[in-house]
Amino acid sequence: MPGKQLIILAHGGAGSDNAHSDGTDRACLIGLKLLQAQTPALEAACRAVEILEDDPRFNAGTGSRKRTDGSVRMDAACMDSNQRFGAVSALQHIKNPIHVSRAVADSKYRLLTGEDAHQYAVELGFEKVDMTRVESNAPGTDTVGAVVFDGSQFAAALSTGGTGGSRPGRVGDVPLIGCGLYAGEHGAVCATGHGESITLNLTAYRTYEMLGRGVTPQEALEAALSWFEDA
Ligand code: ASP
Repeated sequence: MPGKQLIILAHGGAGSDNAHSDGTDRACLIGLKLLQAQTPALEAACRAVEILEDDPRFNAGTGSRKRTDGSVRMDAACMDSNQRFGAVSALQHIKNPIHVSRAVADSKYRLLTGEDAHQYAVELGFEKVDMTRVESNAPGTDTVGAVVFDGSQFAAALSTGGTGGSRPGRVGDVPLIGCGLYAGEHGAVCATGHGESITLNLTAYRTYEMLGRGVTPQEALEAALSWFEDA
């Protein structure tokens, strides 16, 4: 009997340096090993993103960039084709926001924000980290994401420190369902780039919807990119 088809893809953000692709390769290899050990898609996607959150070269988790007031706020979200979705925004001082979003997906809530999201993470025992030591506020968009197929379910996971140098209070596309990410029976989509444009285009959901109409992933990608030509 042929084995199940397993797929995992990860990105290190629209602005990332290709020299950092060893980081995304590593995240995919670890995620693939989990899939081969029957780990569900959502867990494998979140674990791949955790690897990238822990890699300081990327703008997520401990590598997050500073805002104009010197603070760090992180957004993360995850979703699978089982209709599970969870997100956090403006989270501070938690090492792996992606796992907090995963916990939200199992709760009766869909999005928790700010101090209260931090409190939720602390109550659940998530590891804290001192984000006041973050050094860079470079305007990078090298945030992280992964899409996974485990042979039956699709999943997407996304995590960001936002766009460096943005004003306090700014939240981008990452924690917004259908904007930064979407997953359903036809596939999983993760976006990266200018969060406001991604949000205005409902990028992830409209791309997913094309997959549902039988458009190939390559054609769907090209169509989605054309929405940004004037951005
Ligand atoms: N989309 C992210 C945001 O605007 C940034 C990125 O993808 O790098 O927060």
